[in-house]
Amino acid sequence: MPELPELDAAVEQLRDRVVGHRFREFQVVAFSVLKTAEPPHTSLAGRKLTGVSRRGKFLLMEAEGRHAVVHLALAGWFKLGEGMASGKPPARSGPLAVRLDFEGDDAARLDFTEQGKRKSMALWITDNPNSLERLQRLGPEADAVTLDEFAETLSGTASRLKTILTDQTVMAGIGNAWSDEILHRAKLSPFAAANKVNAEQVRTLHAALQEVLTEAKAALTNVPLDRIKATKKSLFGVHDRAGQACAVCGGTVAEVSYVDRSMQYCPTCQTDGKKLSDRRMDRLLK
Ligand SMILES: [Zn+2]
Repeated sequence: MPELPELDAAVEQLRDRVVGHRFREFQVVAFSVLKTAEPPHTSLAGRKLTGVSRRGKFLLMEAEGRHAVVHLALAGWFKLGEGMASGKPPARSGPLAVRLDFEGDDAARLDFTEQGKRKSMALWITDNPNSLERLQRLGPEADAVTLDEFAETLSGTASRLKTILTDQTVMAGIGNAWSDEILHRAKLSPFAAANKVNAEQVRTLHAALQEVLTEAKAALTNVPLDRIKATKKSLFGVHDRAGQACAVCGGTVAEVSYVDRSMQYCPTCQTDGKKLSDRRMDRLLK
């Protein structure tokens, strides 16, 4: 799932390439993604794209006061290519979900795609993005949370650290991948209860959060859109690396299932060498 650093890197490139250009066509190819009926998505055709930004894991495109808000879900991404004269409409099967064609001599085409069977990409068209419930629920941006705010959040809940870091209502932008990396950097167990970590561990975790996001953003800036996902993978120390050697201690990275996902961690670095047991039905999950 695209998270804060890779979306920020992508937003920068979209700003350079398509902001200031007018939509020639705004096509929804997979209609299940469209969550609003009014205003119609076709009303964006002819409007100039005036801004691109990110909020949490949402991408916002503003076109002269009207907004297209996209949530890329688990396997969504986008592809920026050369525009083409409109020909046959794209097929309604396959990964293509939304196709945006821009006007101009150097016309660009922005395709939103979603791989896999579980499709849950979402698109809202609205003149008031602040009215969208999904955006209203978001906590502060993860990279803007201060140490004091972070400490207060942790002390007020018995939820597990993994849950806190990925709960978009607590802080927005971090998902399964970067939370694994942040916990590894901080040498803390993903299952540790938030209100049981001591003040020093809170400081360490907050610093790890800021470091990991800053480093990822720096590494992904100016990486072409079609290589961002692969580059992101290359940055992982533990995420998606079960069975491989931990770069910090040389121990073997382990994997544990938790509710509906699996996470990776280093037992030597993070859990005093103990293997965590699967908890698919965890009543402590909030
Ligand atoms: Zn390790």
